Amino acid sequence: MPNEIIIRKTDSLGRVTLPSTFRRALGIGLGDTVSLTLEGDVIHVRRVTHVCAVCGAADDLSPVRDSWLCADCRRLLGDRAE
Ligand SMILES: [Zn+2]
Repeated sequence: MPNEIIIRKTDSLGRVTLPSTFRRALGIGLGDTVSLTLEGDVIHVRRVTHVCAVCGAADDLSPVRDSWLCADCRRLLGDRAE
């Protein structure tokens, strides 16, 4: 599938609406959480299903009891997180 390019202007607060075709393709619904990652001059947007219960990070998560913790928070919490 070729990459679809949609050009948008930011509004007065710097916001950009994700195109509905992109949201549908990624399964992003209203009110869902996304992560934004800056890599060089590119912003990546990714649907997030879980976030760290402590810091809100969306990467390198592991389930701990009934929550999720990122690697940094697991390291900071040490054995108490197990
Ligand atoms: Zn964390």
